[in-house]
Amino acid sequence: MSKTFDVPKAFLERTTVFDTPTYPFSRIYIEKPVQGFRVNPLKRPPASFLSQFVPIPWEKNGFYYEEEKLGNHPYHHAGAFYIQEPSAMAVVNLLDLEPHHVVLDVSAAPGGKSTHIASLLSNEGLLISNEIDSTRFQSLLSNIERMGISNTVVTNQSPKDLVTHLPQMFDRILVDAPCSGEGLFRKDPSSRLQWSLALVESCAIRQKEILETVFDRLKPGGILVYSTCTFSREENEQVILDFLAKHNDFELYQHPLFAHFNTKVTQGVGAKILPNEVRGEGHYLAVLRRQGSVVPKSFKPWRGNTRSAIFNQFVQEFLKDVTLPFTFQHKNLFYGLPHMEEFRRLHIVRAGILLGEFSDTRFTPAHHFSHVLSPQHVQRVLALELKDDRVLRYLKGEELAVENIEDGWTLVTVDHLSLGWGKVSKGRLKNHYPKGLRLI
Ligand code: SAM
Repeated sequence: MSKTFDVPKAFLERTTVFDTPTYPFSRIYIEKPVQGFRVNPLKRPPASFLSQFVPIPWEKNGFYYEEEKLGNHPYHHAGAFYIQEPSAMAVVNLLDLEPHHVVLDVSAAPGGKSTHIASLLSNEGLLISNEIDSTRFQSLLSNIERMGISNTVVTNQSPKDLVTHLPQMFDRILVDAPCSGEGLFRKDPSSRLQWSLALVESCAIRQKEILETVFDRLKPGGILVYSTCTFSREENEQVILDFLAKHNDFELYQHPLFAHFNTKVTQGVGAKILPNEVRGEGHYLAVLRRQGSVVPKSFKPWRGNTRSAIFNQFVQEFLKDVTLPFTFQHKNLFYGLPHMEEFRRLHIVRAGILLGEFSDTRFTPAHHFSHVLSPQHVQRVLALELKDDRVLRYLKGEELAVENIEDGWTLVTVDHLSLGWGKVSKGRLKNHYPKGLRLI
């Protein structure tokens, strides 16, 4: 049970502008927060599962849910969906992505928008997903792995350090800015304690700095989306107006998706998702277009640095029908590179897929690799159905008895969705589901 904390009075006074004749804004706090999940188009769960849920109008893969424990569902462990607050799902749709786009997500943890972006790009496109905070960073990496993302470079640095090493290369930039979090008050009552007018003002300064730091890495003709999960004018409309006053090669774009939201309270400077009007916790959205025409940029692909015999042996023995990316070796780890250039001096923590770890004699495949593969890519599969009690036992880390599977690395699946690796030896599957992810 979450504790109750009062909604700050000074905040409530500022929200009366959002009241409608039938629903005053302050009434949202006597109702339950809304919850949603977004299906991963790279690994769809069965239609029978999805038919239980109500769709979210502004995201074709989004659904509302009421159940409390969806995060423990085996399809969640398989990366078939991402639990995401419904209004947050609107943001990526404003980028109007095409599969070949090169995209920067400036402040990405825990990865709601980055996993959404990456799932809409093909391997011809590239996402640079950055997070400044090294404690929040782990959740980003874990979600990238779980969702089976392979076309993303994950970095861990400040926007300033990041852009120093990047050219004007992006078709799209997302600034999902750190904010005073007014849209979290219902979902996470403890966030009410941090709020003050001084916080709103200091967030606005930081938001302007982030925009100023990154905007020039957007190519002419490109789109920059700015979003927050807060309602204050200072952190939203005012940030955008100040930015436009300085940069006359940028213009506001009224995206058709705004038809679902409120553009009156913003006086046309972006749109607000208001929880007393639609089923979402609240967001601010603005779309800026940079004038000019896009010059298509062709990559000088980076071809990796290794074709290790020990990895090739693993591929021959355990995989089939799979096109592998160029491999790159760093210390004792192997990566499968996305379509990227070599970025010198970036603080890259993950480039593409972590394939696995090797020693002199053997290769141990990584959890990330299992989530990029499907049953048709491997020689050995322990194919489980959702109702099989071995699904939960696998997710708890137990060793399982198996039949008719030869010794060696085996992909464990639930309804054809990869859960992770096991290693079979004499009718027993040794569990390789990562310890930190196991069900308790
Ligand atoms: N985009 C994320 C998602 O969809 O899951 C949510 C991002 S959250 C709204 C804002 C992020 O900005 C946080 O992860 C926070 O650590 C990061 N942040 C904090 N200060 C920052 C700064 N000065 N520059 C860039 N990012 C910052």
